[in-house]
This record gives sequence, C-alpha cells and structure tokens, in this order.
Amino acid sequence: MKQDILIIGGGASGLAAAILAARKGAKVTILEHMDRVGKKILSTGNGRCNLTNLKMDASCYRSENPSFPMEVIGGFGVEETLEFFRTLGIEPKSRNGYIYPASDQASSVLDGLRFEAEHLGVEVVTGCQVKEIRTGAGFQVATGEGAFRSEALILATGSKAAPATGSDGSGYELARQLGHRVIKPLPALVQLRCQGNHYRQLAGIRTDARLTLKAGGQVQAVERGELQLTDYGLSGIPAFQISRFGAVALDKKQRVEVEIDFLPQWEEGERETLMRLSERAALLDYRSSGEFLSGLLNKKLAQVLVKAAGISPERPAGELRQGELRQLARQLRCYRALVMSVNPFANAQVCRGGVDTRQVDSRTMESKLCPGLYLAGELLDVDGICGGYNLQFAWSSGALAGQAAAKRAAGEGRKSR
Ligand SMILES: Cc1cc2nc3c(=O)[nH]c(=O)nc-3n(C[C@H](O)[C@H](O)[C@H](O)COP(=O)(O)OP(=O)(O)OC[C@H]3O[C@@H](n4cnc5c(N)ncnc54)[C@H](O)[C@@H]3O)c2cc1C
Repeated sequence: MKQDILIIGGGASGLAAAILAARKGAKVTILEHMDRVGKKILSTGNGRCNLTNLKMDASCYRSENPSFPMEVIGGFGVEETLEFFRTLGIEPKSRNGYIYPASDQASSVLDGLRFEAEHLGVEVVTGCQVKEIRTGAGFQVATGEGAFRSEALILATGSKAAPATGSDGSGYELARQLGHRVIKPLPALVQLRCQGNHYRQLAGIRTDARLTLKAGGQVQAVERGELQLTDYGLSGIPAFQISRFGAVALDKKQRVEVEIDFLPQWEEGERETLMRLSERAALLDYRSSGEFLSGLLNKKLAQVLVKAAGISPERPAGELRQGELRQLARQLRCYRALVMSVNPFANAQVCRGGVDTRQVDSRTMESKLCPGLYLAGELLDVDGICGGYNLQFAWSSGALAGQAAAKRAAGEGRKSR
C-alpha cells in the first residue's frame, strides 16, 4: 500500500502532523499501536488539557541543544496554534495565560483533532505494531497489519512517560535503527521520593513553599508554588518542575537534596525569622511548642518541624531558648529533604532526553541523517515545564513536520508519477 506520508504514532504531534499534511493535499496514514489514537491527550491538564501558554520563551524548555525548542516554536507559534484549534472548533480559554479549551474537556480537543483528520481522509490504522522500517526509494514499514510504503515518514511515537497511554519508548529504538543518537530518557515532571518515615504523617498536606534543588551541593533549580506532601516525599507543581534536574543528578550518582522554605511569604532571612519566632513564643508562652505555630503553618507539619529542631512538642513555648528557636527557624526556612529517587516513568508526565535534536532541522523537523524522515513531539530531546509547554512543542513540531513532509511528498510524487 503506497502513501504519500506515513505517521507512526497518533498522539498530539502525530495528529497535528496528519491534519497539516492532509490540508496540503497529501495522502496520509497514521499507524497507531494502541486501540485508539490520542489516549494521552485525554489525561492532560487533569482532564481539561492545558494546551498551550501565552508566555512562551526559552526558559520554559530544556534540551541539550538549548536553542532548538524556541526555533521550532518560532516556526509554528502560539498564535498559529490557537488559530489551528479554532479551525477545529476549539475555543481557547485563558487562566492567567494558561490556555484550555473553553469546554474544559480534554476529550473535546481529541475529538476536534480526530474529526478533522477523518474529514480530511486521513487513514488511521489502530492496533498496528511497527516491526521494521527500511529505507531506499522511500520508506517500507513492516507491521503486524501488513506492509506500508511511503515517500515520507514521520516518527511521532512520544517518549517513555505514562506508558499506559501508548508511549512505551519503542520509538527510540526505531529512531536508533535509522541512525539517530538517543540521549538517555529519564522521568520528568514527576514526584520525588525522599528519605525518612515522617512523610507518612505529612501525607495530604498542601502548603505554599519554595523548593531549592541542590545536586552535589550546587543549586540546580528553584521553584515556588503549592507543595503537596505525600507518604513518601514531595509532589505538586514545584516538585514536578525541579524533578528533571533531580533525575539527571541521581542518574550521575550525585547526592540530591531539596531545601524547603515553608514560609516563602516572609521575605526576610533566618535572623528575622528568629526574631519573629521569639516574639511569637513570648506572646503564646502558655501554649506547648507543638501548638504555638498553629495559625502560621499546617499543624501536623509544624509538629514534625518542631521535632526535627530537637524540641519536645510538650515543652511550653515560653521556655524555649534562643538556640532552640534558632534550630526551629532553620527547619522552617531551610528544611532538608534527601531525595533517594524520582518516581518511575509510569508516574511521569514527560521525559527528559530523547532523540538528539542536533540531528534534526528545526525548520522542517527533517532528520539530517535520513532524508524524508521527520521527527516530532516528545520523542525528541526537549522537555517543557508544566503549563502547556509540552503540548505546544508537540503541536509546533507536528505541524512543521506535517507541512514539510507534504511538500516533499508532492515534489517526490510529481517526479515518480
Ligand atoms: C498525566 C499527564 C498530564 C499531562 N498534562 C499536560 C498538560 O496539561 N499540558 C501539556 O502541555 N502537556 C501535558 N502532558 C504532556 C503531554 O501530554 C505530552 O508531552 C504530549 O502528549 C506529547 O505528544 P507526542 O505526540 O509526542 O506523544 P504522545 O501524545 O505520547 O503520542 C505518541 C503516540 O504514539 C503511539 N506509539 C508509540 N510507539 C508506537 C509504535 N512503535 N508504533 C505505533 N504507535 C506508537 C502511542 O500509542 C501514542 O498514541 C501531560 C502528560 C501526562 C502523562
């Protein structure tokens, strides 16, 4: 069966590529190994799909080729993405610049993509396991559903994150077979597992905090936001944002610590904190040490921090010595969590690492090693922070790949027809 373009993977980037290519008149087939396309899109943004963000700059992306992500987004940006979704019937809704579909339903984003692909005549073969890709006079793809041939091929297989949605990492092997270098994928936007039994008492607490991740004693990342404490460690947006740095450092066998400032609203340092604590202890001298922080901090958290400062929770606050209050100020402003590991790929939203983007043309997403091969989405060594950045990279890279592949197929097609 000869197609203009074969797309392996029917996720965010594959569907965007298919639509943009088909709109240019290309005959497109998506080969998807799950029983349906776009499963991951359904779980994005807690089922609401944070599809992009109005704030878009290089600081929102990481890659070993740092200029690459914004070069791609420069080719198909936020405005074009919003316009693209409007043509699918998806009206954007902004929450402080974070863009969601007005329906607040990720399923409506997937429906918009699916219906448009169908309307344009894109063929979708599901349950289709790709076994081998051969090159020479186009591409020959051997699958469990038969052999396919095409002028151009787009690899859009995603990463290893959340494999239950279909992105099982098999795309890395396909890219390697076609000569590409793969930078080690590690879980990112994921929870941090920390040393200590006391986390069990803290599970479920949500609190504003500033997190500083240090690897081998060096600051790697600082984030402030709503920290969620779990029975094994740290979760919530600020923990997710710093996790990829922890994963990289742990992979290098470095010691990883997170210093937690539980009072980030106090702009002054530990000396002023000590003064404020002394005043509070004098004011509430009739309370126990385990109770005198109540009203400032979550009670259970306060009790754990009082213990961590070496203070018995039963001691009256009025009896606390300066040295003890100093220890407490330290725990409140710079609590040290020793990170033992990050959660596995199953819990990660994205991966750090992937196909080395130095082997890919950022204007077209075409491989520099294998003409006619295009790579898009999270398969590549690009990871964004939380907030719609990973989907934006998927839409942008998918759109560029689809348009360029269609152009190539049209040229090649004319030659061979
Ligand atoms: C829980 C969760 C929430 C998220 N929320 C957001 C959010 O709100 N905003 C945001 O920007 N990002 C979010 N992300 C990240 C975002 O979903 C991904 O970055 C994005 O979907 C990547 O698109 P992709 O096309 O590269 O890969 P995917 O969407 O993973 O698609 C890859 C497709 O390829 C198929 N495939 C894989 N290998 C093969 C093969 N060998 N043969 C055939 N088919 C194959 C897979 O089954 C899958 O359908 C979230 C991720 C998760 C897990």
